[in-house]
Amino acid sequence: MKIKQFKLKKGSPKSWREIFQNPRPVTLKSFKTGSVNINKRGTINIKHPHAGYIRDEVLNVPIKAYLIHHDEFGDFLLDAGLDISYVDDTRGGITGDFIDEFFLEKNENIKFQLDSSKIKLKAVFLSHLHSDHIAGIRELPKTIPYHVGRGELEDYQPEINGNFLNAVETVYEVNFSKLDKMPPLGRCADLLGDGSLWGVSTPGHSKGHISYLINGLEGLIFLTMDACFIRDNLKLKIAPSDYTWDIKMAQKTLDMIIEFLEDYPEVRVVYGHE
Ligand SMILES: [Zn+2]
Repeated sequence: MKIKQFKLKKGSPKSWREIFQNPRPVTLKSFKTGSVNINKRGTINIKHPHAGYIRDEVLNVPIKAYLIHHDEFGDFLLDAGLDISYVDDTRGGITGDFIDEFFLEKNENIKFQLDSSKIKLKAVFLSHLHSDHIAGIRELPKTIPYHVGRGELEDYQPEINGNFLNAVETVYEVNFSKLDKMPPLGRCADLLGDGSLWGVSTPGHSKGHISYLINGLEGLIFLTMDACFIRDNLKLKIAPSDYTWDIKMAQKTLDMIIEFLEDYPEVRVVYGHE
């Protein structure tokens, strides 16, 4: 695996209002690639001063991946979900003491779903490197470009999350620190260069976590990825604490997302695991 820096076209800073007035020919398709059990007392940080009583309750939530189709540039995958190995093995072949269990039905693996729609991927953009977001890479083409936020690779634990990037030819790091802030969001990257797909730096859940914003003809969509697991995170304004790299930063990031959504109520939200 080679690591290269993703080259961004650094344009003049624009406002979201200006960008949203120029929607691009992109559409979104969501895939469910299996599910995972998470506890509500962790999905919602119970130590947050406004948490109140959160029930000890196991939630079975979907594992998701997204296809972005751009009329001119082709098909892009956001996160890779699970590969077929999880149908027979809830740990997907990873051995050790702290391996998460995931559940996958036959024909839910990412490759089956892409192949049945005859999709040829141009590139993959990852939100972060937890196994439920990257295991599917094992059955995807390895010569197309893969992208992660800077910070993600240095904090990557392949022995726990799977060495799924191993066979990938080139991983491109998106270095948000060189980009402009786009209030009320922080630093953002115009990933395809035409204002259609934006990477939004949303650290906290993981070090280099990226959420995505789609500026399509059918409307605006904000994919929180794991910056906001479920609808209740947004409703209660409390970030998750389980599986979280920096709980304080995760809350700061969620507050930023909430402010953005209040400023732009026309944006539809898609949660990471709902
Ligand atoms: Zn995660």
